[in-house]
Amino acid sequence: MVSGTEIRQRFRVNGIVQGVGFRPFVYRIAVAGGLKGFIRNTASGVLIEVQGESASIDGFSRQLRTEGPPLSKIETVDETTVSCIHEEAFTIGASGEGDEVETLIPPDIALCSDCRRELLDPSNRRFRYPFINCTNCGPRYTIVGRLPYDRPFTSMHGFTMCPECEREYHDPLDRRFHAQPNACPVCGPEAILLDASGEKLDVPDAVAGAAAMLREGKIVALKGVGGFHLAVDASNDEAVRLLRERKGREAKPFAVMVRDIGIVSRYCNCYPAEAAALASPEAPIVLLRNRGTEGLAPSVAPGNDRLGVMLPYSPLHLLLSVDAPEVLVMTSANFSEEPIVTDNLEALSRLGGVADCFLVHNRPIWLKCDDSVTIELSGKLRQLRRSRGYVPAPVFLHEGGPVVLATGGELKNTLTLLKGTHALLSQHIGDMKNYEAWKHFEQAAEHLQHLFQALPELIVHDLHPGYMTTEWALKQSVPVLGVQHHHAHLASCLAENRVDGPVIGLMLDGTGYGTDGTIWGGEVLVGDIAGAERFAAFEPMPMPGGDIAVMQPWRLALGYLFRSFSVMPELPFMQGKPAGAVLELLGKGISVHETSSCGRLFDAVAALSGLRDEISYEGQAAIELMHAAKGETGTGTFTHELREEGGRWTMLVSPIIRDVVRAVRQGSSLCEISRMFHRTLVSLFIDIAGRASEASGIRTVALSGGVFQNALLFETLVRDLETAGYRVLAHSLVPSNDGGLSLGQAVIGRSYLAGKYKGIH
Ligand code: ZN
Ligand code: ZN
Ligand code: FE
Repeated sequence: MVSGTEIRQRFRVNGIVQGVGFRPFVYRIAVAGGLKGFIRNTASGVLIEVQGESASIDGFSRQLRTEGPPLSKIETVDETTVSCIHEEAFTIGASGEGDEVETLIPPDIALCSDCRRELLDPSNRRFRYPFINCTNCGPRYTIVGRLPYDRPFTSMHGFTMCPECEREYHDPLDRRFHAQPNACPVCGPEAILLDASGEKLDVPDAVAGAAAMLREGKIVALKGVGGFHLAVDASNDEAVRLLRERKGREAKPFAVMVRDIGIVSRYCNCYPAEAAALASPEAPIVLLRNRGTEGLAPSVAPGNDRLGVMLPYSPLHLLLSVDAPEVLVMTSANFSEEPIVTDNLEALSRLGGVADCFLVHNRPIWLKCDDSVTIELSGKLRQLRRSRGYVPAPVFLHEGGPVVLATGGELKNTLTLLKGTHALLSQHIGDMKNYEAWKHFEQAAEHLQHLFQALPELIVHDLHPGYMTTEWALKQSVPVLGVQHHHAHLASCLAENRVDGPVIGLMLDGTGYGTDGTIWGGEVLVGDIAGAERFAAFEPMPMPGGDIAVMQPWRLALGYLFRSFSVMPELPFMQGKPAGAVLELLGKGISVHETSSCGRLFDAVAALSGLRDEISYEGQAAIELMHAAKGETGTGTFTHELREEGGRWTMLVSPIIRDVVRAVRQGSSLCEISRMFHRTLVSLFIDIAGRASEASGIRTVALSGGVFQNALLFETLVRDLETAGYRVLAHSLVPSNDGGLSLGQAVIGRSYLAGKYKGIH
């Protein structure tokens, strides 16, 4: 019977509401509120109708919006009143009926607290089962081959559920209802331990066997969610150094996995927001402030006051970490900048000389996905590498439009596919210099389009003619657009903040191809997604030998001195270097590139101050220069000047270089020089923002580019800009480095298709 006081309400909910336990959640709150009606999946979310007393429906509406399951993300709720009908109960409509085509695939999610409890409960049938999962946790993106997201189309297709698992899977009130990777020791994947030659080791428990190896200082390769890790006891310096030697990784810091959140503070300062990020379903690596206490091998993160920390996020990792030493180095299994290894046989052949044993299993990884890396700065968690746990959840745009694919840059590459209001960023692909990364890129490009069933009207690439990603774009039979690197950085920042602009953009970066053919990277752009004016840039400096100077900052320092002094000064860093030969090239202008890069300025100052002549990983000199400041900027500054010519401003570099040289000669410490240098840059950027604001009337400043990974510069600049009354836009959802570039390229592509694109002028 329909009572006279009943009403019926229809809710259309869009966002990540499929495959995340949303229907059982709605079922529970509807039944608890005594409501009748139904819920079913639709093209872009779920459709719900509930009928009952209006107070109950109000309560339902509130719970729907605020109490959803942990992995759901509601984008919009559309609520309308419809006429009452006769109904007996609340029902869950079957998946796969009607117009269900556009499902968002959830990311891979860390072990939830319910599964964790079962995993460690000796009376549970999944006690110590390394592949336990449920609707709220487990692998997703890395096991999906195609849509719909259903078990036959995942890498679990080879495992037939036992009757007990089958029952859970079909019960709407069970927390494993439609959990596609549902499995148990009877029916699911299995872990085994192999020795270095690939022979199966006869151990009663593969995980315990691997843990025993770790306690002995051995290197273990283990198959995780998105690829293999290499693990070693982080308190054993000898073992960590052996790993560095075998992996060919000289100094780049390793991340560690800490057994549980309660002991993180023994090693690092961990603020509540950072602790929340560590324990979140995305479970990223968080760069915490290293306390530098004993307990950790010095070779884990040399020269770094931050330590990359994560918690065990898969049941396999948790079991290992319970049995093994409490802090393990946990690093992607790859060589230098190659993609992470995912396949068992590939692991044995490529990591044979590195790992002493292999903890593997028979659930295939269909998509590579590295760990994500984040840092908390100025009160927000910020992505440095957006990958596992976040991909392929969309970045929500405030406007829809045509399908566009963007190919990203050359380093830290990601792709972006725009579909409707969703910006779908690929996982971290890496540096496009090697064949493996190239294959990974092609696979990701194809997979994005295939998975989300979207064919682009336009492919956007970087202006650099030599990038692999540019070459790939030009080979596709789709119209293309090349966009300037720093314009893409600016657009990326605007898109994730859902701001139209215009804004003053401080684009501080390593390398980006400029519209004049020189290398840009310290740019003040005034404009928006459609177009921007190059209002100011750093004074161009010579880079002798081009890219060699990036890896050997002493060469760069010579270039900066050459431009800044009429008589070359003698400095300690030049000793034992073939300086004469480099100066000859500079004098003749042979093989010399001009750059306005801010990243290179850091490298040059680091080399001039005697910090380091050569680097073994990207950004090393700049990172160490920042650490030398010990978290503070000075009060004094070096000479900084702006010069205007024909409406375009130049931020002079040579006066800064001359002052740095003076400071070195006066015996200033590296710490003092670094503090002064950071303060100088902040003052310079405040000054130029003021000029841009006077000229344009704009009071919003957007920050993007790889240099903003520098915590000291970022936090100081944000604070000072805000104190000066500016609204500051920065990245948090996508990286400020080139990992976020493809998002900016893609939205610029849409402005081009809308006939609004003006580019850089
Ligand atoms: Zn779970
Ligand atoms: Zn089973
Ligand atoms: Fe860049």
